Amino acid sequence: MTTASPNASPTAASATDFSQLPLSPATLANLQQLGYLAMTPIQAASLPPALLGKDIIAQAKTGSGKTAAFALTLLANLNPRRFAVQTLVLCPTRELADQVTTEIRRLARAEDNIKVVTLCGGVPLRGQLATLEHGAHIVVGTPGRLMDHLERQSLQLDALNTLVLDEADRMLDMGFFDDIVKVARQCPKERQTLLFSATYPEGIAKLAAQFMRDPVTVKVEAQHAGGQIEQRWYQVKDSERLHAVSQLLLHFRPASTLAFCNTKAQCRDLVGVLQAQGFSALALFGELEQRERDQVLVRFANKSCSVLVATDVAARGLDIASLAAVINVDVTPDPEVHIHRIGRTGRAGESGLALNLASMDEMGYVGRIEQLQGRESEWHELAELTPTGKGPLVPPMVTLHIQGGRKEKIRPGDVLGALTADLGYTREQVGKINVNEWSTYVAVDRDIAQQAASRLNDGRIKGKSVKVRVLED
Ligand code: ADP
Ligand code: MG
Repeated sequence: MTTASPNASPTAASATDFSQLPLSPATLANLQQLGYLAMTPIQAASLPPALLGKDIIAQAKTGSGKTAAFALTLLANLNPRRFAVQTLVLCPTRELADQVTTEIRRLARAEDNIKVVTLCGGVPLRGQLATLEHGAHIVVGTPGRLMDHLERQSLQLDALNTLVLDEADRMLDMGFFDDIVKVARQCPKERQTLLFSATYPEGIAKLAAQFMRDPVTVKVEAQHAGGQIEQRWYQVKDSERLHAVSQLLLHFRPASTLAFCNTKAQCRDLVGVLQAQGFSALALFGELEQRERDQVLVRFANKSCSVLVATDVAARGLDIASLAAVINVDVTPDPEVHIHRIGRTGRAGESGLALNLASMDEMGYVGRIEQLQGRESEWHELAELTPTGKGPLVPPMVTLHIQGGRKEKIRPGDVLGALTADLGYTREQVGKINVNEWSTYVAVDRDIAQQAASRLNDGRIKGKSVKVRVLED
């Protein structure tokens, strides 16, 4: 039997075609090239009113394509021939500001020479002042550092036409309410304001009321397609909770796992237990220094660490490709947060696995989750879990840290060249390469890691000798 959808005519443009939007042919061609073949639901809901110039409050879960929704709007408002800051994007952290900058640059490459500048704390002001003097069209930054520049008048906003608040919920969590309001007050009144958020806590409406004009609210329900994610629940006593996580990992052996805890203390305890048992696990929580945070994320994303343990706040907004499994170590009191957590697995048509531990005390929360999902939980026994394979899963790659990054003009190709052309390794033995401002990380096959590190240490990259070390757990 064949089935055909009633509007499957190959020529008619569907409601999710980017070509429905008033975008330039060059932009449309660029979207094609990037593989953006159709709008995501939040893009389809927010772009039409946004491109008409309306203020927008948009809410959709992490990974739903919110960045492109505001980036395409701010680019449409931009006049590249005018050398002045026309857009300001506020982000909660440097890492998210970097991600947003990268995405805006990708989307802007259809146009000629649009300058995007990132202004975040933790970096000397001096370099930023010099960069700003060279002119910028778009500024992406964290509220604190942007306030610094406004106070020093190194950042002029009189030509601004678009103000974006990205991850507004997280900025509120981090106590940026007053700074955001102050920055917004310094923007011209005639402007478009776009607010994006994964969740919709009370503070958002309060924030919007301060400086948005008749905002259109678009919301894409957090409800997940459901079928793609297999959810299993296990009842545990608090005393057996952390050990149960290792039982789950030994039984299911997911290639990559994000384990959510409700508190930092729980993250720390769990990572301690897992590492002691030989798992390749790292923790991500609020207090880490930026450099440590970068390393944790790089190692998880490049397959040299298989378990990331995180709090909700620390994990929010991270663009991690599909995960084999999510483990809810603690049940979250907020059922929407549960949906966000498990939505990290089973992306892009792949099947996902969400494993949940719940104690008697948490059954009330489980009830709320069932209500929101409209289905009952599937319970399993811990006793069903039997280790498969030999010991904890060993990740396929190891990360080498190279001292030196963009500031030394190192590019990914230079590192790949040093490993393949100079040292004779195959391309397949080299994984993801991340070049940051001051350091470079390259994933290599576990088998060659030690040898590759010492040979790189003795050799050269871009004609310079470099310091290389293996990042161990
Ligand atoms: P969010 O900000 O909602 O968490 P992002 O903007 O970071 O999500 O987007 C998540 C991923 O989806 C990114 O890797 C981005 O490049 C990709 N993406 C965004 N829009 C589309 C699209 N229309 N088609 C395909 N991929 C997209
Ligand atoms: Mg985002």
